[in-house]
Amino acid sequence: MIDKFKKAVPVLEKIEQAGFEAYFVGGSVRDFLLNRTIDDVDIATSAFPEEVKQIFPKTIDVGIKHGTVVVIYKGENYEITTFRTEGEYTDFRRPREVTFIRTLEEDLKRRDFTMNAIAMDKTGMLIDPFSGRMAIKHKIIKTVGEADERFREDALRIMRAVRFISQLSFQIEQETSIAIKKNGHLLSYISIERIYAEFKKIIMGKNRQAAIYYLVEADLHHFLPKLKSYGKELKQTAQLMSTMMWSESEFWAILLILIKVESVESFLRAWKTPIKTIKTVKQIVKAYELRSKEDWNEENIYYTGIEICESAEKIYAMINDLPLSDYFKAIRDIYENLPIKCRTELVVSGNDLMEWTSRESGPWIKEMIENIEKAVIHKEVANEKDKIKEWLFS
Ligand code: ATP
Ligand code: MG
Repeated sequence: MIDKFKKAVPVLEKIEQAGFEAYFVGGSVRDFLLNRTIDDVDIATSAFPEEVKQIFPKTIDVGIKHGTVVVIYKGENYEITTFRTEGEYTDFRRPREVTFIRTLEEDLKRRDFTMNAIAMDKTGMLIDPFSGRMAIKHKIIKTVGEADERFREDALRIMRAVRFISQLSFQIEQETSIAIKKNGHLLSYISIERIYAEFKKIIMGKNRQAAIYYLVEADLHHFLPKLKSYGKELKQTAQLMSTMMWSESEFWAILLILIKVESVESFLRAWKTPIKTIKTVKQIVKAYELRSKEDWNEENIYYTGIEICESAEKIYAMINDLPLSDYFKAIRDIYENLPIKCRTELVVSGNDLMEWTSRESGPWIKEMIENIEKAVIHKEVANEKDKIKEWLFS
């Protein structure tokens, strides 16, 4: 057993000593069997949340209603969820209610895919009633139980399936795939926050090209915000991103450039991406437009900022099928040679200017600072107080 689990074995033991069952479950067991690094060890138990809270002195209520308590044990957090079934589903979303149960098998049955429905006990023995191990071995994404029914219960599972293509390089089993294509329209009932969380994993996964191709070929983009008419551009974006490392903002920037979107802001607001992402994407798109009109030079690199510059250049090279390396190095060189990298590095301040000129504060200060800044960038004057003073009054 790997360290992450070993460290958590005492947690299982404590629950067992109190007379209940407890197992490792979910993504951590799957990733362990895949030899992938695992981040969180999830635990399922027959103990009800109140009972779990009595066993451990330090707990946090996160989703008592859904049966989840976070236990803090030896500095680590563990999500401990009571075995449960999910009651009636309405509107193809999460169940209206969950019912706590006392058997593991019933709990595994409500899980989405067979690879995610494996439990492991404290000795490392696997409980695998749906042949999840086989699915993992053959890299197959297959629903537990009848696919059509499972996607109708909760359509988010459709996005999760595509997300696992991207993260794990698995393929979707045939019946499951047929049911995905049939039920794609149910995605319109799912909250955008939940869809976005999965979509982000789709675009950041190693195998994103295959995942995005699948998404488009299954017509799922028809039911995602603002993407209905852009299957071609989505595939193109995925293809452009098939080599190198890319960030989420770069993904959106490429897509929105290809779409020739009118407003980056309203597009990304529909996706409820963080404001910071919107800001970065806007900057990259703007820098791309600049780069399409003129070459990089001291001034535009300074004002754009090196990171945005590099993103824009990377995208420009990809879209126009140009070699990347030469330009990349040139941009870096120019940047490294800039006398200042941002305005705060300028040695003169508004106070200096007022003192030197004996003038009152006013809009002239900003203007003068900007002129000095430009002169410093172009090396017309050194970034030194007396040199700047001399330059100003000569
Ligand atoms: P990750 O590595 O991203 O955490 P994960 O499979 O652990 O992947 P979680 O969202 O953490 O995903 O969910 C934990 C487990 O809960 C899953 O492995 C699966 O067994 C179950 N699960 C999660 N979401 C659903 C769902 N929508 N329907 C059914 N079971 C689900
Ligand atoms: Mg998980």
